[in-house]
Amino acid sequence: MGGHTDLGTQLALGTASRPVTDFRERVRALVGDRISPLLPACERERRFPREAVTAFGAAGLFHERWSGGPHGDLGRSVLLSEEMGRAGLGGIGIGVGLHLEAATSLLRGFGTTAYTKEVLEQALAGESVCCVATSEQHVGSDLSAVATALTREGDHWRVRGEKWFVSPGAAADHAIVLCRGDQGPALVLVPRSGLTPVQRWETTGMRSLETVRLRVDARVTDDAVLARPGAGLAAVGQGLMYERLALAAQVLGALDLASVLAITHLKRRKQFGSPLYRHQALRLRMADLCSQILVARRGLYATVVEVSAGGAASVSDTAALKVTVARLGERVTSECAHIFGGRGYVEDQTPLARLWRDFKVGRLGGGSDEMMWELVAAGFRPDHGLYENWIAT
Ligand SMILES: Cc1cc2nc3c(=O)[nH]c(=O)nc-3n(C[C@H](O)[C@H](O)[C@H](O)COP(=O)(O)OP(=O)(O)OC[C@H]3O[C@@H](n4cnc5c(N)ncnc54)[C@H](O)[C@@H]3O)c2cc1C
Repeated sequence: MGGHTDLGTQLALGTASRPVTDFRERVRALVGDRISPLLPACERERRFPREAVTAFGAAGLFHERWSGGPHGDLGRSVLLSEEMGRAGLGGIGIGVGLHLEAATSLLRGFGTTAYTKEVLEQALAGESVCCVATSEQHVGSDLSAVATALTREGDHWRVRGEKWFVSPGAAADHAIVLCRGDQGPALVLVPRSGLTPVQRWETTGMRSLETVRLRVDARVTDDAVLARPGAGLAAVGQGLMYERLALAAQVLGALDLASVLAITHLKRRKQFGSPLYRHQALRLRMADLCSQILVARRGLYATVVEVSAGGAASVSDTAALKVTVARLGERVTSECAHIFGGRGYVEDQTPLARLWRDFKVGRLGGGSDEMMWELVAAGFRPDHGLYENWIAT
């Protein structure tokens, strides 16, 4: 395998560079051999396969992604997510991403005790599946209102409450739980013994993600506190940044799959005596979508370089990227299904309808469109000198 090369910069320098193609091929082979075969049954049974986390971890891919500087190697994160998207993994891919990006980043960034470091090692090795539980029945976009209680009981902490949407909740060995302490929101690592899945949601898509309602009732020691009361929201924000980048990469991978299938169908399917491709309306619409995918991908790679270099605009840039790509994902999967006509709507004929219902949730997961736009708007800077130069006042 040779020495470790940071792929964050390599991605921007050239997607065909040797280290990038080597890593991509290793991920692609593992996904093809070990993960894709799990998908049909997991979608049918609405079950997240912990074998997926085990396989990536055992192959050393999680360790490679998180080696290097404060962000680990974001290039490897993008390549892992793109390949899972390109393989049409949907819910399994998002579940692996939540484990690897949202949960592992929090363990790595905020875990200072022997216990949290041990769980981090297990997560990287694929021996422990981790998830992040923030949302509640009455708490979604506004996480500052979190109600799950963190109270002191002798020399322990008691964490008690109910989390509404947790993925992959039933498979998780550990959940990082946002809860309310005396000074405000905190983040606490809770083992499986304190977690009870009480309902598996009948989600429209992402069925193999296995999103559940989770009861939390645990007694934990000081070692399990990742962010003390009052520091929980800032910590969660960091985990979300990685989740958003990975989500954007996975959506773009899935859009490669959808668009190549649709382009090929345009060339193969004949109506009115000629291939659909000859019909200008379809050809140009597809060209428009592919142009937007191309520009979005360049934006993803540029954002990875910016974040890797410690750029100040990381949070708002990542939010801008995520909301734009998530919305593009919903539109492109819908249009590609449309190009297949009736077959696009029939799930045993093409994967297009599944991709469409899977990636609909991209506009909510990791923060909704409106929350992303709020982060972008928070970075607005007026220029009064410029204004007065150009505008009659
Ligand atoms: C399949 C699935 C998996 C999920 N997995 C997880 C998980 O693993 N862990 C976890 O913690 N959560 C998870 N979630 C929850 C997800 O993060 C939330 O659904 C999302 O953040 C939105 O919160 P909400 O559903 O409570 O909607 P709300 O916050 O109630 O928002 C409803 C609508 O109002 C809009 N809105 C809210 N406030 C404003 C405002 N101030 N201005 C303008 N518009 C606003 C929102 O954008 C949204 O469109 C999952 C959800 C789904 C569907």
